[in-house]
Formats: sequence, C-alpha cells, structure tokens
Amino acid sequence: MSQETILPTLPDLGARSDEITIYAGPCSVESAEQFDEVAECVKGLGLNWVRGGAFKPRTNPHSFQGLGEEALKIMKSAGDRYGLKTLTEVMDSAHCQLVADYVDGLQVGARNFQNFSLLKKIGQVTADSHQMVLYKRGFAGTIAEWLAATDYITDCGNTNVVLCERGIRTFETATRFTLDIAAVPVIHKQSLYPVCIDVSHPAGQRDLVPSLAYAAVAAGADSLMIEVHPNPPVALSDGPQQLTPYQFEELVAELRRVAAVFGKKIV
Ligand code: PEP
Ligand code: MN
Repeated sequence: MSQETILPTLPDLGARSDEITIYAGPCSVESAEQFDEVAECVKGLGLNWVRGGAFKPRTNPHSFQGLGEEALKIMKSAGDRYGLKTLTEVMDSAHCQLVADYVDGLQVGARNFQNFSLLKKIGQVTADSHQMVLYKRGFAGTIAEWLAATDYITDCGNTNVVLCERGIRTFETATRFTLDIAAVPVIHKQSLYPVCIDVSHPAGQRDLVPSLAYAAVAAGADSLMIEVHPNPPVALSDGPQQLTPYQFEELVAELRRVAAVFGKKIV
C-alpha cells in the first residue's frame, strides 16, 4: 500500500501568511451612525478592515441602490477615526477613480465577474496605488475563467488582488448560494493570490454563517468576509444574513480558537 501522505495539502506554490484577515461590515452603508457602530465594534475586536456597500448591485431597480458618494464619505471618515482600512464595491467604470479616492480596497462584485472593461479600468486606476482589489467569483464562473480574467486587472500593473469565493448557483436551494469551499485549495495550488471566503452571501441566513466560517478557516482561507449590521431586521439590504455586533463578537472569539488550531491569527 502506498505510504504517500496527502497532508498537508498546503504549502503549495509559496509561503502564505499566518494571518487571516476579516473584512466585516454592513451590506449597505445606510447612515453615519449605522456605519460608525459597526466600525467601533470591528476596531474593538482588534480587526483591521471594515466593509460596506456604497453602490449596490440590486436585482430589482426599485430596491435601495446605496448612498453612493455620501456612503464613501461616511466610510472614509469612520476609517480615519477608527484607524481602519475600508473596502467597497465599484460597479461602474465611471466610478473607479471616485471610489479609489475614498477607500483602501475596491471590490468587484459577483455580477461584474466578466465585466472585462470594469476589470481593466480598476487595474488602470490602481496601477500606481496598488490598492487591494477583492475580485469576487460570479454565480456561474469556473475557477479557470476566474483566474484568466484576473489578468485583466494585473496586466495593468496591480497584482494586489484577493480572489473571493462567495458561492455559486447550483440546483440546491436550501442555501442562498452553494459555497465552493474547494476553491480555496484549488486556487492555492494554481496561483499565489490570497483567497477570501465570503460566508454571508452563500449562507443567506445568519445561523449558517458560523459553520461556513469555521469551514473556511479549516480549508485554509486567507481572509473572510462577514456582514454585520447594528439592527439587521431594519437593514436596507441582506437583513436575514447579517450578524449583530454581539453575534459577530462571539463568532470572532470562536474563530480565533479555530484559527489557533492551524497556527493562525485572526486580524
Ligand atoms: C456584497 O458583498 O455586498 C455583494 C453584493 O456581494 P456579491 O457581489 O457577492 O453578491
Ligand atoms: Mn450583501
């Protein structure tokens, strides 16, 4: 019988960080007070990044579309005050420079997975600043397509890209999307990009979030995205999947214990 070990599946192409970054914050930035409450919680937990949606890609044009530039101002002010880095989605090529002027990290959402002109524009706008680009997988995008399209960003001169798995569409309807946890080791084998797992959007409901987060850490994810809202029942988007600050605090404490098993720290 072969004695070949399959452990560890990592290391692979290169050394990876022993830190797992959390990008936490509300789905949408709704007001300065709402965003501040989350930023204060994130800072209090010793984390470094706060996220929030300013331009929202809503399925229905009559749903809340985000506060736009006002939200960017709210994010910048909270980021400066709490000493946190900020991350938000850019949906439109015309907004790339505006968004880059206000925040530290630019997110490409699932719905813009193959919007190649947006990817190029983001690459151009961040070519000198090397701001982090968090590039989400599309609902129906393969990993090969994802890695190929990443070059639209990096060919412009910014290789500071994080690939974010956020669930894909399958026949399963019990969860909002099917989280492809295998994307973590597959991408680690094929590239040096850090992999983020967004645990909120595949869950769709807050009680599933902790299990997906533990799985992401165990699979070797380099970062996690988690939606947090001061009062989820009144959230203007994605209320059912957002954690309260108290629930988030409990989850981070638990994640720190899980991460320690793998010799990693949550930051
Ligand atoms: C989000 O992160 O707020 C978002 C809209 O995510 P996705 O593009 O993965 O649906
Ligand atoms: Mn959301």
